[in-house]
Amino acid sequence: MYVKKFEELSKSDIGIAGGKGANLGELTQAGIPVPPGFVVTAQAYEYFMDEAGINDKVMSILEKIDINDTKELQAAAEEIKKIINEAPIPEDLVIFIREYYNELCQRVGEDDTDVAIRSSATAEDLPEASFAGQQDTFLHVSGDDEVIEFIRRCWASLFEARAIFYREENNFEHSKVYIAVVVQKMAIADKAGVMFTVNPSTGEEIALIEGSWGLGEAVVSGDVTPDNYQVDKKDNEIINVTISDKKVMYTNDENGTSVKVEVPEEMRKERVLSDEELIELTEMGKRVQAHYGEPMDTEWAFEKDMLFLLQARPITTLGDAVEEGESESSDLGDVLVRGLGASPGMASGKVKIILDIDELDKIKEGDIMVTTMTTPDMVPAMKRASGIVTDEGGVTCHASIISRELGIPCVVGTGDATSTLKENDGVTLDGKKGLVFEGISETKEEAATVQAGAVEAAPIITVTEVKANVSMPEAAEKAAATGADGVGLLRTEHLMLTSGIHPGKFIADGEEDKLIDTIAEKVQIVADAFYPKPVWYRTLDAPTDEFIALEGGENEPREHNPMLGWRGIRRELDQPEILKCEFKAIKKLHEKGYTNIGIMIPLSQNPAELRQAKAICSSIGFEPHKDVDFGMMVEIPAAAILIDEYIKEGIDFVSLGTNDLTQYTLAVDRNNEFVAKHYSEEHPAVMKLIERTIRKCAEAGVTCSICGQAGSVPHIVEKLVAFGITSVSSNTDAIADVRKTVARAEQKIILDAARKRLE
Ligand code: PEP
Ligand code: MG
Repeated sequence: MYVKKFEELSKSDIGIAGGKGANLGELTQAGIPVPPGFVVTAQAYEYFMDEAGINDKVMSILEKIDINDTKELQAAAEEIKKIINEAPIPEDLVIFIREYYNELCQRVGEDDTDVAIRSSATAEDLPEASFAGQQDTFLHVSGDDEVIEFIRRCWASLFEARAIFYREENNFEHSKVYIAVVVQKMAIADKAGVMFTVNPSTGEEIALIEGSWGLGEAVVSGDVTPDNYQVDKKDNEIINVTISDKKVMYTNDENGTSVKVEVPEEMRKERVLSDEELIELTEMGKRVQAHYGEPMDTEWAFEKDMLFLLQARPITTLGDAVEEGESESSDLGDVLVRGLGASPGMASGKVKIILDIDELDKIKEGDIMVTTMTTPDMVPAMKRASGIVTDEGGVTCHASIISRELGIPCVVGTGDATSTLKENDGVTLDGKKGLVFEGISETKEEAATVQAGAVEAAPIITVTEVKANVSMPEAAEKAAATGADGVGLLRTEHLMLTSGIHPGKFIADGEEDKLIDTIAEKVQIVADAFYPKPVWYRTLDAPTDEFIALEGGENEPREHNPMLGWRGIRRELDQPEILKCEFKAIKKLHEKGYTNIGIMIPLSQNPAELRQAKAICSSIGFEPHKDVDFGMMVEIPAAAILIDEYIKEGIDFVSLGTNDLTQYTLAVDRNNEFVAKHYSEEHPAVMKLIERTIRKCAEAGVTCSICGQAGSVPHIVEKLVAFGITSVSSNTDAIADVRKTVARAEQKIILDAARKRLE
């Protein structure tokens, strides 16, 4: 009951042996080569705490602390560890442990054999909960007295500050978390590392192997950037070998203690695993995955020519893997550093370089943490970061595992990020490709924050539709995953900006068809992601100062104030060839079945523009209102004031573009920081125009939406719902909050009406 050999345990014994111990038992029973050992069970820990009479004392200390007060947390952790270290261990337990250890020594034919002593925590009600990396591991322990002392240290490590913090953060009751201790013959590895039996970022069926010289500690701790290998599991074809500069390794000194030493110069860039060894490992990986029936994360070691598995656990992060296509890096600045993609997703923020644990306060919400290698004490600060970059480590090091669990994009093993990146510079990282780019990318922030929305948004149903604004086809999939009711604004000019070519150039080169195809291809991605929900394609709103940068954009006029200049529908009516191509692209998509796409014209200041645009659409055999929904943006006060006339002209829907409506109502250039303080969508004049537009549309039965930034601000959205808006289109990251706000506002309206009836 208190001590069990690996042979006596299986994976169903997590409650006794913890995840690690149960797995070693399961592997042993499955015939996978594992160094022999035993587990001092969770019940042994419970027995010790009960017999020593220290349980209540420990729990009462924990009840009182504020875990966010680092000093208080540290002091409590020290006090509890002292209590555990001074308490007597029951004699019968001591005898058991000695017996099992001595038997192990006999089995391997060594006196006082070297063992590894590892913590294996388990939660009473949730045995599958993960406490990876929270408690201590001790290597090269030998002799029964030492073994007993280090088992005690493992028990005490259940109360390390970081472990207490982790349990509180994840709502585990301290009194229901126990600790088993694994005692295992040390494998004296010549080379060691980790193997994922599928790609942990994408789920692809390859063996992803990392290896370095000496003990596995170097890889797991992130002290070294290991070699990285990929083997196709179908035919054992080695598809990738990346050899890195392995500067350090762990090895045994003359006392058997593990020490970090420099790798001899000639071995640093030498390949660690041969083709044969890779295949042997892959085959073992396949057996382990087949045995468990799921992808596994394993630690392996070669001792001489013998391969051992030291650990195996299910890959916990696969469900969070980001879809292919999300991490599109093409529109970003220069690559500043390269490393390994350790946790997929994109993140932008300011660089904060952490060279010392005391500097963690520097990390504010949304910053990019750049450090040599993360440690468990850094977890609270890692949670505040939007992305993590390390000099060292491989895809299974601390930074990698934790960032995947937290869902934070991460790039590891860059070699020199802490010296190359500059404090406070804006960067964007691609956690899938392992790249860090110069500059902040708005689109990437949008992509990185979608997942939270996706989780929260689903169950709330509202009558007022909540849609998404989309600018980049690559962001469409994630925007759709939020459960958004459609796309209330597809910004075509962004599609063109990413294509890099000025639409006028296609026309000048006589390549109209190419322009039509370029637009259709990109819009189709969005229409596909949302099908059959509506997607409102906004015709080009091309500001001269942005389009000048495109290939073929040299002839753009230099305007005094581009915001008041040649953009929106007025420009399109001057260049009807481009507008025609856009309509043809949408027509083409309708013919392919994407009838969910509607057309919306931007920046109109008089109804004649709407009439002319519709005429151009008709001229290509695509009849507004009949073949395609045709609507307009209200972005200029004139349009809001003349909304009845637009309605008379015929519109299927309206969308309030409050970004422009605010700047034109208040005479404040939205791009000019000198007047930014005068810019407010909530200015009474702007709100009046908004309310008027919504009410007039409601009276006429015309759908009215909003796609300006005000539609992503919950307290403004509340007012819009009260005015009678039919849908709200928000930034993807705001969708979950907006949906809640809309639901609350709708319920308030119903409640107020019911109360009125009762009066
Ligand atoms: C707006 O003006 O509110 C709008 C959504 O359009 P853009 O921001 O693209 O000008
Ligand atoms: Mg606008």
